[in-house]
Amino acid sequence: MDIIGLKNKEKKRIVLVPLGDINSDLIEELKQDLCLFGLEIIVELLEPEPAYAFDLSRRQYNSTMILKRLKSGVLKEDLILGITMVDLFSKNLTFVFGEAEVGGDVAIISLARLDQGFYGMKNDGELLSKRIKKEAVHELGHVLGLKHCDDVHCVMYYSSDLVDTDNKKDDYCDVCTDGVAPFYVDERDDISGRSTEK
Ligand SMILES: [Zn+2]
Ligand SMILES: [Zn+2]
Repeated sequence: MDIIGLKNKEKKRIVLVPLGDINSDLIEELKQDLCLFGLEIIVELLEPEPAYAFDLSRRQYNSTMILKRLKSGVLKEDLILGITMVDLFSKNLTFVFGEAEVGGDVAIISLARLDQGFYGMKNDGELLSKRIKKEAVHELGHVLGLKHCDDVHCVMYYSSDLVDTDNKKDDYCDVCTDGVAPFYVDERDDISGRSTEK
């Protein structure tokens, strides 16, 4: 299956970029979760909250603007995943959980609407962690070239709300796994995802 841009075969690292102050336990947990890609993972702690992307009329932050900034100066071996607490929108969508450059270099996820507290409910740390992993694996799947998948249990299924997110698994279906195979450590078969690509 030829759905990964040639450029992305050069990717060697996932760079997690918290935008502003984010609970370091959540970042550490996400770092562990993303080991499934078989890439080196580093955390870069220099980015401030994305005030430049604030839209006064919507009281939300423009995710496309944030992606643009994250992309400036990106190294060709790096995949950038921005993580923010602020609520994101994109174009005419009411909100987005995240956005990615398909087959590109950068993605962003927002934790704002993944937290039960956002809906006036009691916080649930375990549920929050599961949702963060799903959104991160989804957006990184896009960066590695995957589009949305029709399988409601596949992590690449499009979540229009949290019911969709909670209903899907935190990894790829077989078809999508093939699409990210050069990067994916498939524990089910115990093979190194990188061994199939030079
Ligand atoms: Zn998506
Ligand atoms: Zn799939």
